[in-house]
Amino acid sequence: MPMKFPHRQFLLAAVCAAYLGTAFAAPDARVASLAAKEKPALLDTLKELVSIESGSRDLEGLEKISDLIAAKFKALGGQVELIDPSAEAYRMEDTPEKIGRVMRATFKGTGTKKIMLIAHMDTVYTVGMLNKQPFRIEGDKAYGLGISDDKQGIAVIAHTVAMLQALKFNEYGTLTVLINGDEEISSPGSRALLTRLGGEHDAVMSFEGASIKDDKLSLATAGIASVTLNVSGKASHAGSAPELGVNALYELSHQILQMRDLSDPATGLKMNWTISKSGSNRNVIPAAATAGADVRVLKVADYDRIEQQVNERVKKQLIPEAKVELKFERRRPPLEATPASIAFAKHAQQIYKDELGRPLGADDKAAGGGTDAAFASLKTKAPVVERFGLQGFGAHSADAEYVLLDSIEPRLYLATRMVMDIARGKTTGGN
Ligand SMILES: [Zn+2]
Repeated sequence: MPMKFPHRQFLLAAVCAAYLGTAFAAPDARVASLAAKEKPALLDTLKELVSIESGSRDLEGLEKISDLIAAKFKALGGQVELIDPSAEAYRMEDTPEKIGRVMRATFKGTGTKKIMLIAHMDTVYTVGMLNKQPFRIEGDKAYGLGISDDKQGIAVIAHTVAMLQALKFNEYGTLTVLINGDEEISSPGSRALLTRLGGEHDAVMSFEGASIKDDKLSLATAGIASVTLNVSGKASHAGSAPELGVNALYELSHQILQMRDLSDPATGLKMNWTISKSGSNRNVIPAAATAGADVRVLKVADYDRIEQQVNERVKKQLIPEAKVELKFERRRPPLEATPASIAFAKHAQQIYKDELGRPLGADDKAAGGGTDAAFASLKTKAPVVERFGLQGFGAHSADAEYVLLDSIEPRLYLATRMVMDIARGKTTGGN
C-alpha cells in the first residue's frame, strides 16, 4: 500500500482540524520529503551491508562491516570509536574467545537530552551462505541475508541521522549510535556497555525489525537463562564394589527433583529441566552426570530470584561425597514495559496517527526472542523501546529474509520525528 504522503494527508488533516476546531499536528512536510528522498539511498546502504557476511563468529566479516559502518557515521559528522569488548565479556559456554567490535558514534548538539539509537551488525549465518541469497529487490520487498535481522536497523539509523543533518537539527545534547557485533550470541561483550550507556541516556530506541503482520513497537521482550548442573562422583564396579563408588546419577536425580517446582505461573517464570546425561557402562557406578534447564522470565526481579533460589537449593545434597557445580547463565534479561516506555510509545503512536494517518501498535506482552533493548533498560527508568526498524520477515531463516519497501518512509519519518521531540522535551519520561 503506497503512503498517503504528504500533501493530500496534510490538506485532509487541515480541513478536519478546522472543521472540528481542534489543534492538529500536521505532518512535517520537510521531514516527509526527506524520508522520500532518503529511501533509495537507504536501499543502497542495505545492499552494501547485506553484501558483507557478518556472522557473530566471523571476525573477518565483522571487521569489514564495522569498518564500513564506522566510515558511514564518520562521514555523517559523528565522533566514531570501534571498541573491542572482549576484555569485559560475560563469558558463557558458547562465548568465543574474541568478540566482534562495537561501533559507537557520538553526535554533539546544543541541547541537553541524551538519546541513544541501537542496532546490531552480526547475523546467525555462516560464511558462504551469501551466494544463495544476495541482495535483490522484487516487487514490494528487498531480500538479503540478515536484511531484516538486523541490517535494516543500521540503515534506518544511518539515514535518520542523515535526515537530521539535512534538517540542520542539533537540539539534542548527545545523540549516540551503538552498533554491536555479538547480539546473536546473547551479547556477551557488548552487554555491559549497553547497560552502562542505557543508564546515561534519556531515551533508547532499538531498531530490530517490526513484524509484517502488525506494524508495532515492542515494550517487552522475554528474558532467557540456562542452568547447568555438573556432578562428579566416583566410578566403581556396579556388581562387585558399588559401595566404593559415588553415584553421580543419584545426586543429579536428587538435584533435578528438588529443583522441579520453581516455575511461577503468576509471574510467567518458567524453569524446566530439558537435558541430562550420565554414565558410560551399565556395570559401572557413574562418576559424572550433567543436566541442563531452560529458564524464561518476564521480570528482571524474577531473574535475580531464580538465580538465588537455584544457588540455595543446590546446597542440599543427597550424597555429601559428590561434587556438585551449578552454573547459571544469564543469556538475556527481559525487557519490561514501564510507565516511561508506555508514554514514549504513545507519543510514537500519536506521530504515526496524526502526521501519517497510520496505525502503530505497541505490544507490552513479551513474544519471541529477547533483544539488546533489555540490556539497555537494566539500569534506567528512562524509556527503552524496541522495534523501531522496518517491517520485515524471515529472521534466522535460510532463504527468504526480506523487508517491506513501503515501511521505509514511515519508519524514517518516525525515527526522525521522535529524535526531534525527545530533544525538545516533548516526550515524557527520561532521567
Ligand atoms: Zn536481531
